[in-house]
Amino acid sequence: MPRTDNDTWGITESVGATALGVAAARAAETESEAPLISDPFARVFLDAAGDGMWNWFAVPNLPAEIVEAEPDLKPRMQRMVDYMAARTAFFDQFFLDATRADVRQVVILAAGLDSRAWRLPWPDGTAVYELDQPRVLEFKSSTLRDNGAEPTCNLVHVPIDLRHDWPEALQRAGFDASAPSVWSAEGLLPFLPAAAQELLFERVQALGSAGSRIAVEAPGPGFLAPDALAKQRETMQRVRDLMAKLEPERDIPDVHDLWYFEERDDVGDWLASHGWEVTVTPAEELMAGYGRQLAQDIEDAAPQTLFVSAERVGE
Ligand code: SAM
Repeated sequence: MPRTDNDTWGITESVGATALGVAAARAAETESEAPLISDPFARVFLDAAGDGMWNWFAVPNLPAEIVEAEPDLKPRMQRMVDYMAARTAFFDQFFLDATRADVRQVVILAAGLDSRAWRLPWPDGTAVYELDQPRVLEFKSSTLRDNGAEPTCNLVHVPIDLRHDWPEALQRAGFDASAPSVWSAEGLLPFLPAAAQELLFERVQALGSAGSRIAVEAPGPGFLAPDALAKQRETMQRVRDLMAKLEPERDIPDVHDLWYFEERDDVGDWLASHGWEVTVTPAEELMAGYGRQLAQDIEDAAPQTLFVSAERVGE
């Protein structure tokens, strides 16, 4: 289904199911031999959601017919698990560093099934605001509550669409724009139209006082490269066709149908020109830093993204 301006979703539908896909990668990493991160809640979410295309990453054995027809698929999926592991470790570290610098307001934009509010050692008095669509947050809190999990912070859910007036909702929920805050946008930007992305950063700019920090997973220069995109789509289409024959109950949506392929502001440049001190790390470098080098023999094996971190030092 194509995207529309006011579309909404539950956890197993449309953009919502991508949060389960990330949880599946975190479950696979957590249950691997030498995990970079430990997210015990990822498996809890998958169990609660039931079977679907989203738990592909967490299924150790793909059907033999698919492995045979698409020999690159398995190593590519492992690269994605590596990528998600490095991405999770990066944002974990970023938040913990901010709390060490006494920031006590955390805003997770498009929190999905990110379980940091339940698993990181937040200092006393830390408020974590999680923003996402209402049905996604409802699934998350009811699943964790049913499993007896308790947040390790003062958790505040702000169920809202990020294309709507979320700053008003965030402040009504207790956020104080006069105190420093730390923000994340992980696995979010391609799901927003370019204009909504622009507005998102203008709003963060209005709410993030001096000393605030932000980390963003941003599309890099090669993200929209038509050849690589066409190749990815073709591969996914072949896998989808095979899967439809083998396991018709598993529907595999194409993430490309959920993204907005529009030219966007460069996030690092934008922040740098608005008073933030910026560090940009390409995905490959981030992964290598965590000991997850890319396999040489697989082309385009990691997303063309940049990990941007910034601290507000000026007006
Ligand atoms: N940040 C989480 C993580 O890394 O695990 C979730 C990433 S998941 C790929 C994308 C998330 O963005 C989903 O939870 C989805 O509901 C949320 N999202 C995308 N567009 C949104 C919007 N317009 N308003 C609210 N949430 C949105």
